[in-house]
Amino acid sequence: MVFLSALGIMGGTFDPVHIGHLLAAEWVRSEFNMDKVVFIPAASPPHKDEGDMTPIEHRYRMVELAIQDNPYFEISPVEKERKGKSYTVDTIAYFRERYPDKDLYFIMGTDSLLSFPTWKKPELLVTLCSFVVVSRPGYVIPASFWEKEGLLPLLQPKLYILEMPGMDISSSEIRERIKQGKSVKYLLPREVEEYIYKHSLYRRSYDV
Ligand code: ATP
Ligand code: MG
Repeated sequence: MVFLSALGIMGGTFDPVHIGHLLAAEWVRSEFNMDKVVFIPAASPPHKDEGDMTPIEHRYRMVELAIQDNPYFEISPVEKERKGKSYTVDTIAYFRERYPDKDLYFIMGTDSLLSFPTWKKPELLVTLCSFVVVSRPGYVIPASFWEKEGLLPLLQPKLYILEMPGMDISSSEIRERIKQGKSVKYLLPREVEEYIYKHSLYRRSYDV
């Protein structure tokens, strides 16, 4: 199947960006013959507690460092610069307007798909782009997900499910390992690892 002029959009908190994100984006790009994949670090993800999050400036810079060797990867400040919560529907509406002739594909892992029905205006969002969901170890789509009424018949025709080599890693685990003084080498690009140490990120202990 050949998709012409397809643009991938990879949203996330990226706290920090890791090789699971990078492989997902590259796997989908290659499989769908995409022109490029745009990474969009969320300034204020609706489902995460902002107090626990690394400032957007650091997360944005780490994504810049992580993607610099891939000519197909770009980063967008659209959510960094938008005030208020970072809703995907607002971001996709922006890209829809900016690229009226492109097929837009929002890329996400299985865990994100499972929360999709709780996103802002999902019924509008499904009219604006397609979705590529990549496998993520530890997450399966239960049959009950497809049995839900309403949204799923709208989503299903726009949804592509893609198996990729399982990457059983998460930003949470990386943050925890750094806090415990454990190695995170090879879980994220070397430049990102160096940035984390240089700026002493993730060293704060949960103990009070
Ligand atoms: P956290 O543990 O802080 O939630 P995370 O590793 O889940 O971090 P996010 O920034 O929350 O990273 O995820 C951004 C997107 O990347 C989501 O759609 C998520 O499903 C996907 N993703 C993250 N890690 C993986 C992975 N290892 N394999 C496949 N998809 C992933
Ligand atoms: Mg996550």
